[in-house]
Amino acid sequence: MYHFGDLALHQRKRQTDMTPPSEHRDFVRQIIEDDNASGKWGSRVHTRFPPEPNGYLHIGHAKSICLNFGIAKEYGGLCNLRFDDTNPEKEDVEYVDSIMEDVRWLGFDWEDRLFYASDYFEQLYAWAEKLICDGKAYVCSLSLEEIRSGRGTPTEPGANSIYRDRSVEENLDLFRRMRAGEFPEGAHVLRAKIDMAHKHMLLRDPIMYRIRFAEHHRTGNKWCIYPTYDYTHGQSDSLEKITHSICTLEFENHRPLYDWYCDALGIHHPQQIEFNRLNLTYTMMSKRRLLELVQAGTVTGWDDPRMPTICGLRRRGYTPEAVRSFCASVGVTKHNATMDMVVLENHIREDLNKRAERRMAVLNPVRVVITNYPEGQIEELDAINNPEDPAAGSRKVPFSRELYIEAEDFMEEPPKKFFRLAPGREVRLRWAYFITCTDVVKDASGNVTEIRCTYDPATRGGDAPDGRKVKATLHWVSASHAVPTEVRLYDHLFMKEDPDAVDDPSLDWKSNLNPNSLQIISNAMLEPSLKTAVAGDRFQFERMGYFCADKDSQPGRPVFNRTVTLKDAWAKEQQK
Ligand code: ATP
Ligand code: MG
Repeated sequence: MYHFGDLALHQRKRQTDMTPPSEHRDFVRQIIEDDNASGKWGSRVHTRFPPEPNGYLHIGHAKSICLNFGIAKEYGGLCNLRFDDTNPEKEDVEYVDSIMEDVRWLGFDWEDRLFYASDYFEQLYAWAEKLICDGKAYVCSLSLEEIRSGRGTPTEPGANSIYRDRSVEENLDLFRRMRAGEFPEGAHVLRAKIDMAHKHMLLRDPIMYRIRFAEHHRTGNKWCIYPTYDYTHGQSDSLEKITHSICTLEFENHRPLYDWYCDALGIHHPQQIEFNRLNLTYTMMSKRRLLELVQAGTVTGWDDPRMPTICGLRRRGYTPEAVRSFCASVGVTKHNATMDMVVLENHIREDLNKRAERRMAVLNPVRVVITNYPEGQIEELDAINNPEDPAAGSRKVPFSRELYIEAEDFMEEPPKKFFRLAPGREVRLRWAYFITCTDVVKDASGNVTEIRCTYDPATRGGDAPDGRKVKATLHWVSASHAVPTEVRLYDHLFMKEDPDAVDDPSLDWKSNLNPNSLQIISNAMLEPSLKTAVAGDRFQFERMGYFCADKDSQPGRPVFNRTVTLKDAWAKEQQK
């Protein structure tokens, strides 16, 4: 086991290593096993994933989903999906629908346990009246500003509100009239009566209800008072008989309040457990900021393949298996750290290497003419679909006199370490023949427009019977059979590992957006078998990376997103 303080370093060192940190159980699972051993919850394990429907889910949420649903599965328990929908202004059914789609896509099932905090509004209201009757809540008529300034500081106690000692009758009357819509927004709030000198600032008479004349996506205009997150969350957990309420570290200082409400109401009291948020280099996990990118048109939408959202990763070509294995590998601790994006990329590489069929596609084509190949002749050559998976079989690829290869695979005057095609040089065409460059044709400005070669008919299939070797194997497509299409290549959304790192204080995270995060190639050439690809189909384009057909694909003209390159830049660095 490594020292927590070294976590970032440790992760950096093992950035291409994808095995879980170690075989030891994380501390959350350890708590659950201890509870099961002591019989604390009668061996019951019941978790929940509680998103606020104010945006699309991102890879950080995937970690939480995998943890909550995963734990339930591992310990024979249950996991609920609950929308934490107490803020009518920011929430929307579009988000509710997308969240359900994403959780399902990740492979998890809440069965009949779909809940909404808004379904508990009536119960929460009744409990608020109970707290008023017990002398544990009061209507405060200070402004929000006065409440804030009266709260004190971590070193100085706050001051009691002048409304703190209202009678139960007056509090009940005012609270009922708040609900009835008799007062404007901001006139009153309901506060818990705890202790204005409490060492936890959040326990200094926190707000329970605010007046908001806002339409709610589920309750419509039924309510004009809305409960706060803190007043809602623990009670929702309690109503659903949750045992372990697993959330991220920023809720650690809310835990005393979570506990206070459950105890004051004398209801089932789940245990809140906090773990570290997932952060990734070159991107960010804030729904608010991701929404800003969507609204500003910086990206094409929540599912833009550059987004760290689950739908963005899906469109990019990520598989649920890769996202799950990544989440299992990142570690559940008490210390926030930033994972290297390379780790996520390596998980999708590993998964697709096993199951993506290989195809040939030329992204930056230059024409090759094989001068000794008979005009009009076409051969159907056998190409193996996936060397990692014999069951994937093979396909036929047409070969003819005119082909395309990558422009980068030819150099008229090659430097020492360039082993690909050059005048007089022989290379292998994948699954086809050895060819030797004899000549080049150039346009007026000196650009190579055509490479002329001869082929050796004895090397059919890609091997020379005399055993002679070549130093390079190139991918290619037959020019007359090629399917021209658009291919989109992606780079990081941000130029810096930490998008918040700015040298100039007048700039913010947006100044670190990468202007070259999307490169559109409009005239890529695909081998003909790719013509029928439909959105979501994934392939390895030999030597170019893993690609996934986009939803913008048309019949006969698939558009491809590059999911990831074959090797990360870091690994390449090591090979030099
Ligand atoms: P954001 O900060 O991105 O807006 P949030 O915390 O407001 O996210 P919620 O909808 O409240 O989003 O989150 C639902 C659950 O997912 C919570 O339990 C939260 O702790 C967890 N979660 C959110 N972000 C992360 C993350 N980066 N890593 C792990 N869990 C996360
Ligand atoms: Mg939140």
